[in-house]
Amino acid sequence: MDLKPSEVATVLKAEIDGFQGKMQKSNVGTVLMVGDGTARVHGLDDCMMNEMLDFGNGIFGVALNLEEDNVGAVLLGADSQVKEGDTVRTTGRIISVPTGLQMCGRVVDSLGRAVDGKGDIKVEDSDYRSIEGVSPSVPERQPVTEPLQTGIKAIDAMIPIGRGQRELIIGDRQTGKTALILDTFINQKQTGGGDPNNPDQVICIYVAVGQKQSTVKGVVQKLEENGAMPYTIVVSAPASSEASMQFLSCYAGASMGERLRDEGRHVVIAYDDLYKQALAYRQVMLLLRRPPGREAFPGDVFNLHSRLLERAAKLSDAKGGGSMTALPVVETQEGDVSAYIPTNVISITDGQIFVESSLFNAGQRPAVNAGISVSRVGGAAQIPAMKKNAGGLRIQLAQFRELAAFAQFGSDLDKATQDAITRGQRMTEVLKQAEYEPLPVEEQIVIIYAGTSGGLDEVPVDQVADFEKKYLAFCRANHADVLSTIRDNKKWTDELKAKCDEMVTTFKGEFLA
Ligand code: ATP
Ligand code: MG
Repeated sequence: MDLKPSEVATVLKAEIDGFQGKMQKSNVGTVLMVGDGTARVHGLDDCMMNEMLDFGNGIFGVALNLEEDNVGAVLLGADSQVKEGDTVRTTGRIISVPTGLQMCGRVVDSLGRAVDGKGDIKVEDSDYRSIEGVSPSVPERQPVTEPLQTGIKAIDAMIPIGRGQRELIIGDRQTGKTALILDTFINQKQTGGGDPNNPDQVICIYVAVGQKQSTVKGVVQKLEENGAMPYTIVVSAPASSEASMQFLSCYAGASMGERLRDEGRHVVIAYDDLYKQALAYRQVMLLLRRPPGREAFPGDVFNLHSRLLERAAKLSDAKGGGSMTALPVVETQEGDVSAYIPTNVISITDGQIFVESSLFNAGQRPAVNAGISVSRVGGAAQIPAMKKNAGGLRIQLAQFRELAAFAQFGSDLDKATQDAITRGQRMTEVLKQAEYEPLPVEEQIVIIYAGTSGGLDEVPVDQVADFEKKYLAFCRANHADVLSTIRDNKKWTDELKAKCDEMVTTFKGEFLA
């Protein structure tokens, strides 16, 4: 068969002309049906996924279901003002939020609008970023090498987190999950003096999904009291807000972090929590008549979380070397970590911190189960002095856990068993930590060394906490040079070891006397 180029060209030209004509006509549609915060719109043939739709009267929606003859959208506001037959326009914009350092210190909603009563946030058009970002590709990343110090002994020593990592915090209700995040945020003040404009300051973003408004208020208040609010952005989508706002909030927060990450800054973002986000997504999707799958979640709920968490990254030097560390939270029901959402998020993250009600109620706070918690990449980021000391700690605790259960039954234990139990009891005490009291890494090392080296064996178990407090004060007052050497050199030397032995012995003499 002969193909004549001129004929093909004419056909193609006609197609192109027709295509353009269609595009102009079809960006206006009509509402077919509205209810429960969702709408079906007819006639938007060229609508994009996640495109903002203008429903008039200042009401916007987001296109989430692109079907053959209609578009399913969620409304980002009250649906009472939208009626059947109303005109809807596409805006040509993917839903976007304002980003930048001016957001620090503010509480905003999922669209980046201030909700803290402190007035509007000054943003330029160029500050807007789409809430769906393309996550960096492999060549654009580099391995995690710098620590993200949480200031929590149990985590920094045994489940270390690196900048750019994704570490899941998972546990039942009221087990101190949010407290771990708050302490981590408060601890970041050390990095840049709490000044968001200081390039060394790690910026914190807290995304509150589906929580009570009073809980979010409490979080903001604690951050303020502890001087962490100036470098923190809070994205609030409380339980009272529309389900659409709740599940979009995580992406909004991620975009705010991504902007700073791409500018070479370090960001830590907490999603509290992804289980509630999945519930909000399920609600919207069932209303839009997406087929329900396992546990009635829509089939793409894995993608909902994976595309969010993939945006956490440590960028290559060529890309500025910035990082975004993600701390997603997942609430479990009765400790069931094998349910659908927990297993999904466990498989996406680089490690998990398990917090348990039984430990929490037994007074072990933070209630981190160090035996089963892991951090798969953070070890590379731990400073050598901590790595050296934490190794001993893990082994001693594991021995203790094995022996403790068994030792309950017999009183005539051999010396080695007794010693392991004595040590383990002291180390368990050392790992307890009050809220809002994050410790700098050098102080953590000094007290952990005191425990693992046997320095605390003669201190009665119920006095270990008191000992720790006074010992650290003693070190700060009399041996600031040792602390600063550990902080600056990051190495663990025989000289430091000898010095720490001497410090413990001297202080113990005073303490026990
Ligand atoms: P929810 O499931 O309701 O979100 P959560 O798991 O986030 O709860 P938190 O709100 O962080 O838990 O903590 C629950 C309670 O335990 C709070 O009253 C908090 O003050 C207390 N708490 C948390 N961590 C500690 C700690 N290390 N020491 C003492 N109390 C703590
Ligand atoms: Mg919480």
